[in-house]
Amino acid sequence: MQSIKQVLSGESLGQPVSIRGWIYRTRSSGGIVFAVIRDSSGIVQTTVKKGDVPDENFGPASNAGIESAVEVEGILAEDDRAPGGLEIRASSFKVVAPSEPFPITEYQSTELLLDKRHLWIRSREQTAVTKIKAAMLRGAREWFHENDYVEVTPPMITAVAPEDSTTLFQIKYFDRIAYLSQSAQFYLESLIYSCERVWALTPSFRAEKSRTPRHLAEYWHLEMEAAWVNNDDNMKVQEELVTAMLEHAAAGCRAELQLLKRDPASLRKISPPFDRMSYAEAMDSLQAGGCEVSWGSDLGAVEERALTKERETPLFVVNYPKELKPFYMKENPEDSRTYKNSDLLAPEGYGEIIGGSERETDNSLMVDRLKEIGESLENYQWYLDLRKYGSVPHSGFGLGLERMVTWVCRLEHIRDATPFPRTVARVYP
Ligand code: ATP
Ligand code: MG
Repeated sequence: MQSIKQVLSGESLGQPVSIRGWIYRTRSSGGIVFAVIRDSSGIVQTTVKKGDVPDENFGPASNAGIESAVEVEGILAEDDRAPGGLEIRASSFKVVAPSEPFPITEYQSTELLLDKRHLWIRSREQTAVTKIKAAMLRGAREWFHENDYVEVTPPMITAVAPEDSTTLFQIKYFDRIAYLSQSAQFYLESLIYSCERVWALTPSFRAEKSRTPRHLAEYWHLEMEAAWVNNDDNMKVQEELVTAMLEHAAAGCRAELQLLKRDPASLRKISPPFDRMSYAEAMDSLQAGGCEVSWGSDLGAVEERALTKERETPLFVVNYPKELKPFYMKENPEDSRTYKNSDLLAPEGYGEIIGGSERETDNSLMVDRLKEIGESLENYQWYLDLRKYGSVPHSGFGLGLERMVTWVCRLEHIRDATPFPRTVARVYP
């Protein structure tokens, strides 16, 4: 048994090959069936001629609809009209399981494709996205391993809200209330005192009520935290990590990227250092471009798009005003209105993929900020403890995996960066 990718390499030209997979499209005319077969590695045309296959094969072969599971044996031959320029002339065509009429045909509404998501993920585009995402994850995992980071497993059920208490998912936890994690940051911060450099890949849950093309209610969050690392070094880690992820995608998923109309070379030309711009400079640039923003305005999708749409490489925006960011960030000694933080914006208009900062080490500043935003200190005592017993300068960040996939795969909507998207409108299938 060969993979279709192996078959399409052509090395078995003129020789017998055997494949198994699913019918991608099929038509028959007279005594011949042209069936394109798909497996996880690609598609290849097969021709089934009456008389060339056992008699009991031909009827089922001509009746089998798309998505029927099949096993095919035959001789690999050249054919200019076939995808990849090759076809298998079948000597045997077994229908392992016929398919009922497949509910997805060529032109379907977005809603139908979401209702039938468990079937739509078989599409070539979705398969490509899934593989590219896996390649990016492999790149990240290798980078962390090579750089002495320890992969850790933080909890997903918590009592605190590191980011934004308005987007917490509340759950019944025995006879009290708990929340689904929005970020593993606080737990990662706790682990740096033993492991120094840690990272985790976990789902983060955010009850994002507004429907945007870049927010999911559940997404995969790649987070790192490291002791003795300041915000500049934190940004260097981000540059190297992102570059390693892009490199893995470009090297391992050429065909998949091309299928999605992403030139792998455009990813390969991204390398450290990335451009940097302060929040203040971003305001100037936006104002010059006609955006109605002023100091204190948040950078949303529109502003980030304006900042990045002409760019081909990522951009760091650094030193945001404190009122726009969470309480745990380190005050910028050069401008106490701002934090030592950065957001990394993907080019071509895609916008934020990472949020990172140096962390505040002064408990009294954090207590003041928590009081200011009306948080009860009770839930944060353990977090504040971390600054009492040998506190050290440290930094970290969170990368939204589906945000990065949306950019790399040139998707219009983040829901296509994950097989089973969870949004305000959808939790089925
Ligand atoms: P935004 O302003 O876009 O809502 P955020 O400031 O809430 O983002 P962070 O809390 O810094 O984001 O989270 C870290 C990263 O997680 C972000 O840079 C982004 O890549 C990703 N992210 C945040 N919220 C979502 C979401 N709802 N769906 C998918 N990814 C998200
Ligand atoms: Mg948010």
